[in-house]
Amino acid sequence: MAVREKTDWCAACGKERLFRRHEPEHWIHLGFTIISGGWWLPVWLCAAAFRGPFRCARCGEPYRPPAPPPLVLDASFLLYHLRLVRSGSRSGALVLERCLGS
Ligand SMILES: [Zn+2]
Repeated sequence: MAVREKTDWCAACGKERLFRRHEPEHWIHLGFTIISGGWWLPVWLCAAAFRGPFRCARCGEPYRPPAPPPLVLDASFLLYHLRLVRSGSRSGALVLERCLGS
């Protein structure tokens, strides 16, 4: 199996760490699939579908993407979208619903 790596913040370590995930060797699976007349294809599909998460190389914790920054609503943003809603715009209402959680 090949290993894919990326560097990101590990919440468990509290530091930037290397994360690794095993990836299937697609050329080898293709060869086995051809040689076996297609019988290897389910194995290949399972290997591709269940790769598992990236894990911290130091502590083994699965990778969790960082939370997006909190949305800061200012008055001009709200007034702009309220004006859109008053003019009958559905997109303005959708934006306000999404931001205000109602
Ligand atoms: Zn870690």
